Amino acid sequence: MASKIALQLSGIERHYGEGETRLSILKGADFSLRSGEMVALVAPSGTGKSTLLHVAGLLEHPDGGDILVNGAACNGLSDDRRTAIRRKEIGFVYQFHHLLPEFSALENIMMPQLISGLPRKEAKERAAALLDYLRIGHRADHRPAELSGGEQQRVAIARAVANAPMVLLADEPTGNLDPKTAHYVFDALEALVRQSGLAALIATHNHELAARMDRRVTIEDGKVVDI
Ligand code: ADP
Ligand code: MG
Repeated sequence: MASKIALQLSGIERHYGEGETRLSILKGADFSLRSGEMVALVAPSGTGKSTLLHVAGLLEHPDGGDILVNGAACNGLSDDRRTAIRRKEIGFVYQFHHLLPEFSALENIMMPQLISGLPRKEAKERAAALLDYLRIGHRADHRPAELSGGEQQRVAIARAVANAPMVLLADEPTGNLDPKTAHYVFDALEALVRQSGLAALIATHNHELAARMDRRVTIEDGKVVDI
């Protein structure tokens, strides 16, 4: 049975500025991602990887085109509705961890679940299970500043999937790590995606990691193309 389409982008337009300084970044970009699929987004700096991920993650409005997340059209929705869909269906990992510095690793992973209304006990159990799964259970009570770069990124990954989203979007998640740590963090990410059947789109400059994914796409002339 064919897996279902978790994310579909059609004819996405995104430009910055107006008039003579107008910069067209996405020009009718189409892309779809199926459940269980891991896709690498590999393109030079400045071509629009972050823009594409932000639009796909409902963090930025496109100037045109359609976005379907888990079959639901996200165009023309109120910001509240978009936020609700984003919280439920989408996990985002950035190059820098963006963890809340005053909270422990465990609390950082509980946070999105508590915001979604999960009881504290369940949120804590799931956060602890994720930390164990990512082999950093012993770091649960540490604050981000007390963790290594690789540990911080694993906590950020756990936080992104804490609400069991359909789609994981990652913007150069290992870009800030040394090669050995990058592989270790990617192993954890891959295991999590494979085990949960998530759909993942991961921007990376690391060709070895890109080669391990199911498909590779790039951005050419404002469109997403297979490589
Ligand atoms: P990438 O992630 O591939 O490096 P980005 O999506 O960050 O590329 O940026 C694509 C282009 O859009 C770049 O030229 C960048 O300078 C420009 N850009 C991104 N965000 C903005 C913005 N908010 N205002 C103006 N230009 C922007
Ligand atoms: Mg970028």
